[in-house]
Amino acid sequence: MSEPRSAEPVRWWAPWALPVTAPPARDVLVTVEGGRITALEAKVSRARAAELGAELHDGCVVAPGFVDAHAHLEYASYDALVDGLGFAEWIGDHIHRKRRLAPAHARASAELGALTALHAGITCVGDASFSGDAAHAMHAAGLRGRVYLEVFGGVDDASAGAALEAVLARLDELPSSDLLSHGLSPHAPYTVGEPLYRRVAASGLPWMTHLLESADELAFLAGGGALHAALERTGLPLPQWDGRDPVAALADVLGPEVVAVHLTQAGPAQLEVLADTGAALAHCPRSNARLGCGRLDLAVADRAGVLVGLGTDSPASAGPLDPFAELRCALEVHRVAARDSSWPSLAHLLRMATLDAARALGYDDLGSLDVGHHADLVAVHVGACDDPLAAYVLGAGPADVRAVLVAGRDAGVRDRTSLERARARASDARQLLALPVRRETAGAGA
Ligand SMILES: [Zn+2]
Repeated sequence: MSEPRSAEPVRWWAPWALPVTAPPARDVLVTVEGGRITALEAKVSRARAAELGAELHDGCVVAPGFVDAHAHLEYASYDALVDGLGFAEWIGDHIHRKRRLAPAHARASAELGALTALHAGITCVGDASFSGDAAHAMHAAGLRGRVYLEVFGGVDDASAGAALEAVLARLDELPSSDLLSHGLSPHAPYTVGEPLYRRVAASGLPWMTHLLESADELAFLAGGGALHAALERTGLPLPQWDGRDPVAALADVLGPEVVAVHLTQAGPAQLEVLADTGAALAHCPRSNARLGCGRLDLAVADRAGVLVGLGTDSPASAGPLDPFAELRCALEVHRVAARDSSWPSLAHLLRMATLDAARALGYDDLGSLDVGHHADLVAVHVGACDDPLAAYVLGAGPADVRAVLVAGRDAGVRDRTSLERARARASDARQLLALPVRRETAGAGA
C-alpha cells in the first residue's frame, strides 16, 4: 500500500499549534500534500484560512500525533482487571488469563486496541505482539508503526536457532506496507536466553525487549526469587544469566535498531551503555508505577544522553490506552522525585511522546510539525487558553481528540461508531479475561 497522494492539498487551521521543535504558534495554517507537511504558517486569520478552504479547528491545538514507543495493542480488552500483585504474581496472572483466549478473541482485542489508540490521538505505535494480531489490526486501522513479534526461549544455541526460524516464518505472514514494518521482540531476560538474543540481533531486523523492569527480574538474574519459582513451575527451560547483567552481556549487540523497555532497575553504568550503543529506551511510567516496579531515573538517562520515548505498555498493567494519562504520570512521577515544579518541562514530556518516541522507533521524519515530516496530525480541543502547552499536556484527554490524520489521510475519528463496534466485538474476550484466577494454580509460562 502506498501513502495516499491526493491531488488537492489538505489544509488545517487552528488557533494554536504545538510544533514540538519550536515554541507554540498562534493562528496556524498547516498544509499537507503527498502525505507530508509542506507548509506551516503562523498568524493566518481564520477568515483567510476559510477562503483557502482549510478545515477550521476552532478551540483546538494542532500537534503531531502521539508516537507510542512501546505498546501491546492486543491486550486492549484487558485493562483494569487486577490490582495489588507484585510483578512475578502479576505476570503469572496475566499469562493464566491470556490462555483463555481463542484466536478470534485475540484478534478482536487487537482491533479494539488499534482503534482506541487512533481515537486517543496515537498515530504511530511500536507494538510488541505475542500473536501478531496487532499487525493485522494496525494495518486495517491505518496506523503507522512497527510490530515486533515476540519470541521466547532459546536458552541454548540449537533451541535459539529453531525459535528464530519459527518466528521469522510467522513474521512473513504478517501484513506490511509503507506505514507498517516488522521487527522482533525477544521478550525479556527471564524468558529469553542470551543465544536467542544474539540470533535476533544477527537477523538484521529491528528489535525491542523488556529489560530490567522489576526487582523480581534482578532476583531471577541472580538465580532465585518469586519470578524464578513461578517460571520453574512451568517446566520450561529457564535462561541462565548466572548473576550477569544483561545490559553488559549484550552491549556488543545493542545499537540504534534496538528499543529497550523500562530500565527501572538500571543504574548510571547501564544507561551509559544504552547511550554509547545508540539503543533507545521506551519509558512506560504508568505500568511501572502500578506494578510497584519503581521508576526510570530520567535525569540520569538524560545526562547520559539516552534517547527516551514514552510508551503506554500493556493495558493489562498500565490501564486503558491513553497517551495523555501517560504524559501526566511521567510528569508526576519525575517531579515528585526531583522535587521540582518545572522539571521535566511540559515541552520535554511532549517531545518524549512524539519526536523522541519516533526517533526511538527509527523514524527521522516524524513526530513534529516540521516541513517535510510525515503528516500525522491531531486536532485536540482545549477551549480558551493562554498557554496551549499547559492546556494540552495538563488538561486534554482522548475525548477531546477532534480529528486525526495519518500520512495526510483522515483517520475517521469524528465518528466513534467503529470504536464502539470494536468494543462490542471484544466483549467476549473481556468476559473471559475477567473470570477470576485461582491463585494457587496461576503458574507462569509463555
Ligand atoms: Zn511491555
